[in-house]
Amino acid sequence: MNSIYKGYQIKTTLLIGIILTIMRCDATPKSPNIIIFFTDDQGYQDVGCFGSPLIKTPNLDQMARNGIRFTDFYSASPVCSPSRAALLTGCYPPRVGVPEVLWPNSQTGLEQKETTIADMLKQQGYATACIGKWHLGDQPNHLPTAQGFDQYFGIPFSNDMSVNPNSKVAKHIIFNEEMTIDSLREKKWRGSKVPLMRQDEVVEYPVNQTNLTESYTTEAIQFIKENKNHSFFLYLAHSMPHIPLHPSANFKGKSARGLYGDVIEELDWSMGQILKTLDELDLAENTLVIFTSDNGPWNLENGHGGSALPLRGYKFQTYEGGMREPMIAQWKGKIPASTVCSEIASTIDLFPTIAELTGASMPKTIIDGKNIWPLLSGQKKAKSPHEAYYYYHKTSLQAVRKGNWKLRIVEENIELFNLKDDISESKNIASQHPEKVKQLKQLIDQYDKELSANVR
Ligand code: MG
Repeated sequence: MNSIYKGYQIKTTLLIGIILTIMRCDATPKSPNIIIFFTDDQGYQDVGCFGSPLIKTPNLDQMARNGIRFTDFYSASPVCSPSRAALLTGCYPPRVGVPEVLWPNSQTGLEQKETTIADMLKQQGYATACIGKWHLGDQPNHLPTAQGFDQYFGIPFSNDMSVNPNSKVAKHIIFNEEMTIDSLREKKWRGSKVPLMRQDEVVEYPVNQTNLTESYTTEAIQFIKENKNHSFFLYLAHSMPHIPLHPSANFKGKSARGLYGDVIEELDWSMGQILKTLDELDLAENTLVIFTSDNGPWNLENGHGGSALPLRGYKFQTYEGGMREPMIAQWKGKIPASTVCSEIASTIDLFPTIAELTGASMPKTIIDGKNIWPLLSGQKKAKSPHEAYYYYHKTSLQAVRKGNWKLRIVEENIELFNLKDDISESKNIASQHPEKVKQLKQLIDQYDKELSANVR
């Protein structure tokens, strides 16, 4: 009796085991979707949960409550093109040959031989889309469609620029503001009249900029819906709040922070739409969403620039305000809710982190970024993988941060700050700490020497 019962019990346990194994196989999730939501020239303070006194960002604030907020997250350049090159390749910008801002019809750009996050994920069978501002070269071999993206929809450079007169033009191109094919082909600078592109063709010239945030959002949602059963990578690089500022009619005049606030509040709406779509399609538990910006805010007297307070400096500078960015990440079920991380991390870390998460193999070339999944996933006691972080502007290595110490050397002017006591870089304490200056200067010299010898 007893042994029969035992036999029955073993069979039942076996059966349950087999069923569970089958269920697990069935439920094996596809590789995680990746969304990078990248804004242009948004200040460190210009998000509710980063301390904005006037701008309302309920969706980004909710995202931070769902996930993690990084207080010491850096872009890899205080200007657009290099910052984007770094994000997509995991390298400091001079290493990949994009140290400076690119202009329309530039003959240079991000070289095809570089591996972008999109190239890497395409190898893994991902659907890939770039929606928004590109700014890594507008020649056919530099455009997103040549850099691993299946789809491209957006403006090829900053919204204050002009047009490449040699652009490929779509058959049914829409012309606005009395422009014609002849005016597009004319070699004349028309500031802030920029083209809208689909794949490698201009589909509208000049684009009506008040529609940009909304049309990017619509396009992004459509891409997510089309790929709900397929792993995808969405690089949504909004054109705003780069000047000239253009909110849509729904947001114009609504924010207490004026036109700049209107634009940020519309970007927040856009993020809300993306997150809502993920929830509706039941994708939030299989999607890593990252929000950050490419560089610090403009320093403008008309209020059209943002705020990096309490940080010092602006766009174009290697003070904290030029490169430290608000960063929020959400992945429901994987990133613990309401986490804050104050370790040093950067946009260059996203490439190796995404490689780790998707099982993709890293390129054989030097990659400066590091896997920050231990930080992102809120592991207790996880430390920054960077021994030091380097601040490049153009080709010059102007500053280094190690722990809380930051050394900045511009035109032989040496500044040392302790960011823990002095987040605003207001007290230059170089003369009190000559040993520290020497140590950090050595790091700068070493890194710059290595990088200069290995520019690709
Ligand atoms: Mg920018």
